[in-house]
Amino acid sequence: MWQIPKDVPIFQDFIPKFSRNRPGHSMQPKGITEHATANTQAGANAKAHARYVKGPDAAARPASWHFTVDDREIWQHLPLVENGWHAGDGYNGPGNRSTIGIEMCMNRDGNLNRTEANTIWLTVKLMLEIPTIETVIPGTVWQHWHWNKKNCPMTLRGRANGWADFTAAIAAELRRQTAGGDTIDPNLMERIKRLERTVNQLRTDLDGALKAINNAGKALTG
Ligand SMILES: [Zn+2]
Repeated sequence: MWQIPKDVPIFQDFIPKFSRNRPGHSMQPKGITEHATANTQAGANAKAHARYVKGPDAAARPASWHFTVDDREIWQHLPLVENGWHAGDGYNGPGNRSTIGIEMCMNRDGNLNRTEANTIWLTVKLMLEIPTIETVIPGTVWQHWHWNKKNCPMTLRGRANGWADFTAAIAAELRRQTAGGDTIDPNLMERIKRLERTVNQLRTDLDGALKAINNAGKALTG
């Protein structure tokens, strides 16, 4: 359904400090909130949204999020340790204050399937790189809808099993990228074997000592 890319370029272009939509509250991300821009105009790609979110309209709302993804690239607008205003669940809402916000572009001159594949790639990357986000599904990746019942991301919500397929693809990519963790480094295996030999030797020595104590006891009582 999606061909998950090996790599996607990420450009950083942060919202200016002290802008109304860069509140600067420190954040330890617990999860990721997925959005769709609802802007189908040609050219409304990730770079265009990087411009928009630095401008007066986004500041006045105030609205902000961490990443915008299109079919070719990703733009980051906020550091991962600061919150944005994207979840619509209030000043202290857990969506706003503890999740990374990702906007998926809907520009009609873009490829939505590739945008979604790039978003799956980014979501997995963040789950693996941010220590405070657990690498499990569900419970870590949310629809904007989860926080305030807005119909967002409308693209995934608008088709049968859209969200279920999307989160299943994230889980599959997580499994694929962490599968290497099951194979044990040969040097580590050798150390484990040496430890096993030491433990076996200690067990033999202990058995011998216990027998000696037992015999000594018998000798005393006999
Ligand atoms: Zn949204």
